[in-house]
Amino acid sequence: MKRQYAVIGLGRFGGGVVRALVEQGMEVLGIDMDEDRVNEYSSIATHAVVADSTDEGVLKSLGVRNFEHVIVAIGENLQSSILTTLILKDMGIDKITVKAQNDYHERVLLKIGADRIIHPERDMGIRIAHQVVSKSVLDYLELSDEYSIVEMVAGSKIEGKSLLEMDIRAKYGCNVVAIKRDHEVIVSPHANQPVQEGDVLIVIGAEKDINRLEDNLMA
Ligand code: ATP
Repeated sequence: MKRQYAVIGLGRFGGGVVRALVEQGMEVLGIDMDEDRVNEYSSIATHAVVADSTDEGVLKSLGVRNFEHVIVAIGENLQSSILTTLILKDMGIDKITVKAQNDYHERVLLKIGADRIIHPERDMGIRIAHQVVSKSVLDYLELSDEYSIVEMVAGSKIEGKSLLEMDIRAKYGCNVVAIKRDHEVIVSPHANQPVQEGDVLIVIGAEKDINRLEDNLMA
């Protein structure tokens, strides 16, 4: 059975979420109060409707309470974002993800019961900053204040060495969870797996440990 998603707010962010969900074969209801935006997504989303999500009666008549996961992608209008989240929570939606504008917005959203808060602009800024300061870091994902997952490209310094020889786990407290080589992905690589220059290592660990590994092995 297909999983059902509703996305409220079809701006650049909400629109991107709709496209990606549809590409993954999901059923998506797109909602926006702006008719032009709805028209833009009418052939992309499974259904797209013009509605004001701060109107509880309208959300009820659209059957939003039957959706498993609702994504609130209203950014600028904090009042609408908060009120919409409150209504969805009262309706008993299982999972509510909300795009936040700032930390105060996030705190309010958490207090009223949003399950997941996202800060797309801020998080993308952090990822880009990590990519531009390091030659070896291709991508960066923060898991918590302390832990991250980083994609880093192996340089000539570690060509032919195995994970065991480099002793990454013991020396740096990091784990290589996968190695990408051309179009192949080696998941949970064996300790004896030799690394080639140009391989992309996907490493999980504390940020300070990942930085040490990068400075000592990748530079
Ligand atoms: P983005 O940064 O994702 O491009 P944006 O800056 O275009 O967003 P936002 O103000 O963040 O615009 O709102 C995103 C969308 O949410 C807009 O298309 C807007 O019409 C819609 N929206 C705002 N309030 C409501 C509401 N109460 N009900 C339905 N849609 C709404």
